[in-house]
Amino acid sequence: MHKDDLQRKVAQARAWVDGASRVVVLSGAGISTDSGIPDFRGPQGVWTRNPAAEKQSNINEYMASAEVRRQSWQGRLEHTAWTAKPNAGHRAIVTLEQRGLLHGLVTQNIDELHQIAGNSADKVVEVHGTVRQVVCMACGTKTPMQEVLERVRKGEADPVCLGCGGIQKSDTISFGQALVPEVIERALQLASECDLLIAVGSTLQVYPVAGAVPVAAENGAEIVIINAEPTAMDEFADLLLTGSISEILPQLV
Ligand code: NAD
Repeated sequence: MHKDDLQRKVAQARAWVDGASRVVVLSGAGISTDSGIPDFRGPQGVWTRNPAAEKQSNINEYMASAEVRRQSWQGRLEHTAWTAKPNAGHRAIVTLEQRGLLHGLVTQNIDELHQIAGNSADKVVEVHGTVRQVVCMACGTKTPMQEVLERVRKGEADPVCLGCGGIQKSDTISFGQALVPEVIERALQLASECDLLIAVGSTLQVYPVAGAVPVAAENGAEIVIINAEPTAMDEFADLLLTGSISEILPQLV
């Protein structure tokens, strides 16, 4: 995008933020890449570089294969989330909340960087769960991730639930797994109530979360999409800001 053109669009988006009373931000993996956590489908994405890694995100493969689980636990040991710090993009959304404009923050991210940056937990709707917790797939018991990773470090390849012996996994929604109905309902409700929706860092191709964009548009909200590459929802955008989230988003707030 031509620099002047981008600056003109940024100024327009800033005016919409200033005039808004209920802003909803929809965030995806792209907001956390500048914190060192790779996305899945971007040019440097985990799946783009290693298509086999997609198996670890599929619930059927995970439940059926001890080897997929072993690899998943090894991956969790080295997860970039443990050392990542929020970046200017996350901080910009904290500013929105401090200004009293943030109606809700719907995130597909599992890294909790929004809360670590300073957004209140009750504003954040985690539609895909969190990697900082483990859940037992049999009895539902939840355990802090670091406790279970300690067992992996001590040599357990596939640590089972200490209560019932069930298979455990990070408390995230894998492909093939149902979303939590109340959580996705709340996300779509927030989208229907906002007057400005800002979608950042998502290819917007995973439903029903991506559906928040048309829901907001149908209810009269302005739609701003900030992403490095085209998304599946670009046709709904009133403004498409192509570029770096950590550079563009702070200019809007
Ligand atoms: P995605 O991987 O499908 O898409 C990310 C998009 O962000 C891409 O279009 C990419 O070009 C863009 N992008 C990356 N870095 C950017 C930057 N600095 N500035 C501007 N744009 C940038 O992400 P998704 O749609 O969120 O889907 C991936 C799913 O995987 C999510 O639903 C989430 O559950 C999970 N995931 C989460 C994390 C995390 O928590 N940080 C990381 C990877 C995957």
